[in-house]
Amino acid sequence: MEYCLETHDLCKSYGRFKALSGLTLHVPKGAIYGLVGRNGAGKTTLLRLICGLQRPDSGHYTIYGVDGSDRNIGSIRRRMGAVVETPAFCRDMTARDNLVLQYKALGLPSYDGIDEILRMVGLSDTGQKKAKHFSLGMKQRLGIAVALCGHPDFIVLDEPVNGMDPEGIVEIRELILRLNREQQITFLISSHILEELSKLATHYGFIDSGVTVKEISAREWEASCRQCIRLTVSDTKAVCCALDGMGETPGGKVEYAVVSDSEVDVFGEVNITRLVVTLQKSGCEVLSLHERSESLENYYINLMGGGNHA
Ligand code: ATP
Repeated sequence: MEYCLETHDLCKSYGRFKALSGLTLHVPKGAIYGLVGRNGAGKTTLLRLICGLQRPDSGHYTIYGVDGSDRNIGSIRRRMGAVVETPAFCRDMTARDNLVLQYKALGLPSYDGIDEILRMVGLSDTGQKKAKHFSLGMKQRLGIAVALCGHPDFIVLDEPVNGMDPEGIVEIRELILRLNREQQITFLISSHILEELSKLATHYGFIDSGVTVKEISAREWEASCRQCIRLTVSDTKAVCCALDGMGETPGGKVEYAVVSDSEVDVFGEVNITRLVVTLQKSGCEVLSLHERSESLENYYINLMGGGNHA
């Protein structure tokens, strides 16, 4: 697999405090990689290192195969755009003037691409409005627009939807998905909002106390999440007897778990009609029946040993 970013045993301390203690991650080319970790896990520190804002104490990283300490890393970083901590733009300037400024800073020969970037991020119609009067969502989109100058193929976003309203969240999500799909831009996104991340990410890296806990692709995560049918019933004992008597799945007996006085989760492939008929015959009323799968949040909580939220 080709990686856009690889980090190996990255360490970074602030005084005596170790923010990163050997962080190893692999961001595949073309991915939307969700970097997940609780407050203080080291997400922003990692993003600062790979953007060249700080240096690691030890360990190393490569961007498109070029080491972070290589003298050519500057030209490789020109293929990268980033919004780390707060979006970088001038509050007293319009969206367009901000992009002109960034084009100048990058030494780009013509401003031809600016209108296209404004269109992509949905800021074409902001005219003379200064950035300081933008909504939070517009500011975040302007930050992404600035990051898009110079046609990067790798974009790093630090908590892109923090504090946003549901409409703003959807706009950012659709923008990221469109840029990934239409322009093959790889994204590395740190986020606390796991439900939102699960609508976007193709890969996840879970970190805690500056180390990698697990990397997993969205496909692997979906495959590992146990799908089940949750039955709400009048009598769980009767359900257990009926399920024990069925023994019809390809793997043999029906696998199930009693989750409360009135709820039973049934795993694996089960013939629903036969299940309901069997329960009816044994005098057990089925009050409701629906499919469930493990949420990313539950997966994360279990991974971190329970009880801790991102
Ligand atoms: P959050 O989700 O809260 O932004 P994070 O995962 O991004 O957290 P970092 O910002 O990387 O975490 O911080 C990791 C740890 O390093 C934290 O305990 C933080 O207090 C500490 N830290 C970060 N920057 C500095 C600094 N410049 N000086 C001292 N300590 C720092």
